[in-house]
Amino acid sequence: MKPATPETAAPADAEARRALPPVICYPVDSLPPPDLATYRAARATARKTAEIIAPPRQAACFTAPAGSFFRITCTEGPQVGDLNLWNAADLSERFYSGKTRALHGTHLSTGDRLWSSFPALRPMATITEDTLDWYGFDDFGGAVHDVIGTRCDPYTHNLLKGGQYHHCCHSNLTRALATARDMTHAEAEPHIHDVLNVFMCTGFTRDTGQYFMKASPVRPGDYLEFFAEIDLLGALSACPGGDCGSEHSSDTAACHPLQVEIFTPDPAALSGWTPPPRNGYDGSHGA
Ligand SMILES: [Zn+2]
Repeated sequence: MKPATPETAAPADAEARRALPPVICYPVDSLPPPDLATYRAARATARKTAEIIAPPRQAACFTAPAGSFFRITCTEGPQVGDLNLWNAADLSERFYSGKTRALHGTHLSTGDRLWSSFPALRPMATITEDTLDWYGFDDFGGAVHDVIGTRCDPYTHNLLKGGQYHHCCHSNLTRALATARDMTHAEAEPHIHDVLNVFMCTGFTRDTGQYFMKASPVRPGDYLEFFAEIDLLGALSACPGGDCGSEHSSDTAACHPLQVEIFTPDPAALSGWTPPPRNGYDGSHGA
């Protein structure tokens, strides 16, 4: 956190240094844009093939084959979801929140992609619909669907408040993956990774740069829909923070289920589409 009273005196040209304009670290203009027109034409042919419910303060796993769509819907009351994604055939390829943030910004919406970890670094999913895209950035700098948080976890809770709480998203995701893949909790836990915070409204305070959350604007009927670029295993936790308007990592907040639906299009509608290849770097690191 930046000190309110710095110990070091500002140099004479401090304001000139501060006035330099920012440069976008990773311009994405060179990336081929997602073919939303093809995705939407395919979506129009799709039928619902599966439904999974993440109960309050629990997580659930789902599979979304390459070329399918998955939709996360708020059904009963304002609720935030923590999403993990893996290559269904290789759990070592998983969602890379930090690189997705570097490429697309702090909060995601339609047309943004969820990128996978090194060395694959390829789109795992593309957001095709976002009923909260109207929210934009509020006066506090808050926005929805962030890739700046991590996931609520029992370790940080223990560090800051003490005690043992077992329904943080980290633990919920651990149990769900263990069940889905017949693993022990100890085997499943290392696969849990930083999330897409679905529906969560977050930002950084302007004065101290601290991570903040506020009550999500999500309401029943709102959804976020994705196109699965590769065969996916997903896990979604209905965060114990509910709408995250007060606190998480406790049973205090009102908490609701989240629905995941899988929609499978007519294969003919995707005849010109192929899953993205793994990244083209040769992996030699100069050796
Ligand atoms: Zn959580």
